[in-house]
Amino acid sequence: MKSIAFTTAVLCLVYSSLSYAATTNTNAKLVKAVMPELMMLYKDLHQSPELSSVEFNTAKILAKKARALGFEVTEKVGGTGVVAVLKNGKGPTVLIRADMDALPVKEQTGLAFASKVTTTTEEGQQVYVMHACAHDTHMTSWLGTAKLLSENKKNWSGTLVMILQPAEERGRGAKDMLADGLYKRFPKPDYALAFHNSASLKAGVIGYTPGYTFANVDSVNIDVKGVGGHGAYPHTTKDPIVLGARIVGALQTLVSRELNPQDPAVVTVGSFQSGTKHNIISDQALLLLTVRSYSDETRKKLLDGIARIAKGEGIAMGLPENLLPVVTVKDEFTPATYNEPEFTKSMAELFTAELGKDRVIEVPAVMAGEDFGRYYKADKSIKSMIFWVGGVPDDKWQAAQATGAVLPSLHSPFWAPDAEKVISTATQAMNSAVLTILAK
Ligand SMILES: [Zn+2]
Ligand SMILES: [Zn+2]
Repeated sequence: MKSIAFTTAVLCLVYSSLSYAATTNTNAKLVKAVMPELMMLYKDLHQSPELSSVEFNTAKILAKKARALGFEVTEKVGGTGVVAVLKNGKGPTVLIRADMDALPVKEQTGLAFASKVTTTTEEGQQVYVMHACAHDTHMTSWLGTAKLLSENKKNWSGTLVMILQPAEERGRGAKDMLADGLYKRFPKPDYALAFHNSASLKAGVIGYTPGYTFANVDSVNIDVKGVGGHGAYPHTTKDPIVLGARIVGALQTLVSRELNPQDPAVVTVGSFQSGTKHNIISDQALLLLTVRSYSDETRKKLLDGIARIAKGEGIAMGLPENLLPVVTVKDEFTPATYNEPEFTKSMAELFTAELGKDRVIEVPAVMAGEDFGRYYKADKSIKSMIFWVGGVPDDKWQAAQATGAVLPSLHSPFWAPDAEKVISTATQAMNSAVLTILAK
């Protein structure tokens, strides 16, 4: 019932009036005023990226700033995570999440403030580090939102829980923060919001998807065993490469023949390793798969199907029980991200009123993963939404439209979003979302 009342409230706000237009102008003005300070922070963050789970300085800098704004700040939640709480009277609790980690990528944007940072990975590799997923825009906007709302407490009532999450790129930061008591030690949210910058939307355009928006992501290993021997005497062996190839072929039927064509899913064999030499039949092969779906049922169908096919092909090959392929679903699972449809549509209407209808569009879901889905998965009464904020600079966008040139994607060493537009748009959207949800 709450959501119906909420939607009505939003719609009233959106459609009622002049007074809303005035609020919109005020929001835009307030954002504009803080942009110089935010762009300085953005450039600092961009020049000092840190890899997943070691976002020590990033967390420290932002925790200090949130504390200065009057938030009650707790650090080291689920590793380097930060939770900043601002209680402001009666009302619902809104969670806003930004992720902090950068990637092992050598920046090639040519920006004056490009990263030159190098470090050693968990695996002991020497790498360059770059905010190639532009989480620096997320954190900067996070602080902008915190600043505007903390300075405007008379216009809202409720509780704000602003979190900085580690290790999104490794799909474990949200899990670690929840396991460390995010919903027990701090006020549990009624609403959860986040955004991700987009390398396929024009700068300043918001994209939203009601319902599933990011996929379930599973990593699966198939250990294929065999009986090794001489390449010239195949009849004395059980060839794991032939068996592995049969499994790869049969896996293609899971999506094409077993699922409803309207139900999106992906089974990709990303790695097939076996053998050492031309004339030796190996005794093992290893297949590494990524498996993607939206619903729990489809996920189960795919994982069960993979196990059944691997075993079935082993039996067809004539392998004894103890040599049948072993399927392991890795525990680094990322659940699908679900945008509660009614809440998402009401937010989209609000953003349209704020930014104009050219700047808010519905976009299709993607098969990529985002661990923001965990905040909803942990408690499905939470109304949750993640949206895209376009970052492709106008000149690049126009050139691509004219020539069909391929634009750099997220994670590219060339990804240089129009940070000013991403940050100002996201900050305005978040600020208006909270002011509406927590309206007095
Ligand atoms: Zn990323
Ligand atoms: Zn990202």
